[in-house]
This record gives sequence, C-alpha cells and structure tokens, in this order.
Amino acid sequence: MMRAGECPVILTSFPYHDNDFIRGFGREFRSMAAVGEPICLEGVEKTYGVGEGVQAIAPLSVELRGGEAVSVVGPSGCGKSTLMRLIAGLDAPTRGAIRIGTMPVTGPVPDVGIVFQRDLLLEWRSVLGNVMLPAEIKRLTGLQARATELLRELSGGMRQRVAIARALLTDPSFLLLDEPFSALDALTRDQMNVLLQRLQTTHTTTLLITHSISEAIFCADRVLVMSGRPGALLDDIRVPFSRPRKLALRETPEFTAIGRRIREHFEKVGVLVG
Ligand code: ADP
Repeated sequence: MMRAGECPVILTSFPYHDNDFIRGFGREFRSMAAVGEPICLEGVEKTYGVGEGVQAIAPLSVELRGGEAVSVVGPSGCGKSTLMRLIAGLDAPTRGAIRIGTMPVTGPVPDVGIVFQRDLLLEWRSVLGNVMLPAEIKRLTGLQARATELLRELSGGMRQRVAIARALLTDPSFLLLDEPFSALDALTRDQMNVLLQRLQTTHTTTLLITHSISEAIFCADRVLVMSGRPGALLDDIRVPFSRPRKLALRETPEFTAIGRRIREHFEKVGVLVG
C-alpha cells in the first residue's frame, strides 16, 4: 500500500543476468512500497513444556526498526528459530509481548514472507506454479527465463531463489529467513548473500537467522548476537556499510573487525574455542 506523499521504491540495481529472475518480479510487485512498521519485543521469554521445561529464550527486549535488515547469529539451539516463529505469530511467548507498530501479535501475522532452510517447494509443480501458490495471483511477469521449468531440474541456489520470490510475492512488510542458505555450497551461498542484500528495500523489515558470522554481517544493517540456550542478547551491532555490497567487502578491515567482535563474544561464553 502507498500513502499520500510517498515515493514509490523500485528495484533497479541488479547487475547480474541470472538475477533477472527476481528483478522483473521486484519491479512488478514492489513498486508500491512504503516504509515498514517496527517490530517491538518487550521482555519476551519462551519456555517449552511444563514444569521446568526447556527455556529457549531468556527475557529479550529489542526493537527492529521498519525497513531494517537484521541478522540473528548464534549457536544451534539458542532459540533463533523460536524467535522467528514468535515474531511471525506462529507460536506465543511464555512471557512478554510482541508488537508490530501498535498492534500486539496474537496470532499468525498476515503480512509476512517466510523462507526456511528447506525450500518447501512442490516437486510436481513448475517454478511459476510454486511461486504463484501462496497468493494465488493469476498474472505474473518477470519470471520468464526459468518460469516453466520443473523444480526437479533446478540447482539448490535456484530453488532458494524461487522460495524467496514466493515469499516476496505478496509484497510483505516482513521477510523472515530461517537459515535459508545453509544447505547450499559455499560459492552459491556467497552469490545468494549478494542477491539478498540487493533485495532489501525500505519497505521490508528483514530478519535473517544464521549460524554464519560473515553472512550475518554481509546481509544486514544490524547483527543481534545470541548466547547459547537460553538465548540472550550478547550484543547489538550496527553494520555501517552502504548497499549494494560486493563480496570483496568481507576482506576489508572494517568488516573483519565486526567479525572479530562477534567471535570474541562466542569465545567468552564458550560457544567457540579459539
Ligand atoms: P535454534 O534455531 O537456535 O537452533 P530453536 O529455536 O530451534 O533453536 O530451539 C531452541 C531450544 O528449544 C532447543 O533446545 C530446542 O530443542 C527447543 N525446542 C524448540 N522447539 C521446541 C518444541 N516445539 N518443543 C520443545 N522444545 C523445543
């Protein structure tokens, strides 16, 4: 939706031919973009089970500003996926509250696109058939190149592009990605990192869950560093680099300094042993 006086945001800066796949899609559906709503977590805690149970998340208070790209990096089992499910309204916190703008999250959030580690695509449908599924939109342009190929014919990287395109189809205000690239080979993963940070607009608030320190920094404006279970916030780091970003950024002293800061947190709490 666009409010009076706002400029449309149009994605234009895709230098790679293989990114045409999402480029046309972006132009079609994201040209009516407005600035996204903030997500506010106040004392959010999650314990699974009864009695002592399993405390997945220690009390957590944090605000994700509208249009911000935020990564959450932490060890396995620290509650990252739980946090994503709570924000999407797929599960309820044990204590505390989550608001989007002024609205409390009390059930599944409608305006959200989610991408999981497994792409959850349907083998028997074409690329176009998969992308069109959630919104049941009748007309779609911009997916010309690979649109009619069957999923079983695609590489892992291309499959995750389809999953991202599907998540973006309804032009959601929130894009939640749970380890979307961890099953890919290293080079494809790098390429997907480049693509993801180029897709970021002021309209979409993005939350990327990852185990990779470098991916967390490269793809985001801000990195939330989580401790081991129960997940608590160890650090909240602003990532100052402008977009679009190139992979060579990862070799700069400024980038490696942020990586070091995160690694030192993990070493201090015993998640990493140097
Ligand atoms: P991460 O995504 O960081 O690996 P999760 O959010 O998946 O962590 O899980 C955090 C902790 O909560 C883990 O110890 C996990 O076993 C536990 N957990 C997650 N989901 C459930 C559930 N539905 N029931 C019981 N325990 C769960």
